[in-house]
Amino acid sequence: MSVEKPQWTELFDEVITGGLCTGCAGCIIACPHDVLSYNDANGVYKPFHIDVDGDERNCTHGEKGCTMCTRACPRFRSWETEIDVHQHQRERTVEEVAGITLDIVLARTTDPELADVGQDGGFVSALLAFALENDVIDGALVSAFDLEAGPWRTKPALVTDRAGVIATAGSRYTYCANTLAYPEAAEAKLERLALVGMGCQASAPGAMQSRKAGKVARRLGLTIGLLCSKTFDDAIFEELFEAQYGVKREEIVKMNIKGVFQLWLNDGRYVEVPLKECHAFTREGCKSCPDFAAEHADLSTGGIGESNDWTLVLVRSEQGRDLLEKMKAAGVVEIRPGDEDPGALALLRKLAQLSRKRWPEAGDPGPRRIPVKAS
Ligand SMILES: Cc1cc2nc3c(=O)[nH]c(=O)nc-3n(C[C@H](O)[C@H](O)[C@H](O)COP(=O)(O)OP(=O)(O)OC[C@H]3O[C@@H](n4cnc5c(N)ncnc54)[C@H](O)[C@@H]3O)c2cc1C
Ligand code: SF4
Ligand code: SF4
Repeated sequence: MSVEKPQWTELFDEVITGGLCTGCAGCIIACPHDVLSYNDANGVYKPFHIDVDGDERNCTHGEKGCTMCTRACPRFRSWETEIDVHQHQRERTVEEVAGITLDIVLARTTDPELADVGQDGGFVSALLAFALENDVIDGALVSAFDLEAGPWRTKPALVTDRAGVIATAGSRYTYCANTLAYPEAAEAKLERLALVGMGCQASAPGAMQSRKAGKVARRLGLTIGLLCSKTFDDAIFEELFEAQYGVKREEIVKMNIKGVFQLWLNDGRYVEVPLKECHAFTREGCKSCPDFAAEHADLSTGGIGESNDWTLVLVRSEQGRDLLEKMKAAGVVEIRPGDEDPGALALLRKLAQLSRKRWPEAGDPGPRRIPVKAS
């Protein structure tokens, strides 16, 4: 084992079996030897070392000096500080519980088709369509419906055009490691990629870039974060929605979480499920996650505003700000100042603080830092 060159064994001990792994799959896509795979059966969502060139805990490439998996991992050691310093030349202050932010706005698409399919203001879809159509990116790693597996099953997907963006819009609340669409993009030789994902995934490009993880880091040049308190095990459909509320997964046409789990059904019914009944289905990988606000994205987006048809957007980088300005100038989005919705800003802070308290006290102290009066 080399402490100076931490590799798979350290990742396995400290993150994967150490209770910090989110299942973001960053390590898998960064591995240059293709010896890591992903277990998404029965709610596991964890990487594992395949049975060649080592075993469960040992990697012969790691023993020879390969450190790519630990360099890619956005939960390894002092990940938050390292990414903050790389992206902003400083670590976040204690007051910045939702991460370092340049600006906060409310935004929505001006395109009726995108507004119709988008979860909140359709901002993410508008951004992806704009970036693809204006030669900003070659492709985006998103979450698609896995229709072969069944209703409301998801799979990571590469989209390269407006039709793909429309087909993959909206939110699903089970886990989808969008990063795993990367190999398809690399195979297609696409160099400029956007990654859409919750905080766990949105920190992966920053981890890779700050620790110089090669061409994967370079290709993942734009990150769109999704605010997130948790995802749920797929079992929630049968064991709660169907067993307690008589709602079959194939009947659901839209879902959202606004204080309660909201379900819209194909016969026009609307069902609310209290969140306290959903907690038993919280995905394991979310239980120690400290990042509600996708703090390392270029633009982080959420639906906690007072109106359902606006997306709250946290601008975190100059690249994100520039893209937002260009979208505004092209008339593809409407924008309002975030402080027009003080309730949303207060909720953002509250939910960000709550998530930070989940990070283990024994872990790196950075992610748990919140204002003293809030603890
Ligand atoms: C699991 C999850 C939890 C969330 N929790 C919160 C929350 O607690 N509070 C809050 O304010 N906002 C939350 N959001 C964000 C919110 O639901 C919207 O995604 C966000 O406001 C952007 O809205 P939009 O209309 O601009 O996005 P859209 O234009 O509808 O685009 C949404 C994008 O998200 C991708 N996506 C959908 N489902 C998943 C998934 N399961 N995993 C990865 N990518 C996915 C789609 O492929 C699409 O690219 C959550 C989103 C997800 C996916
Ligand atoms: S958190 Fe992500 S990068 Fe780290 S070990 Fe888990 S899947 Fe791999
Ligand atoms: S709470 Fe959300 S951001 Fe955190 S690990 Fe779970 S899915 Fe990822």
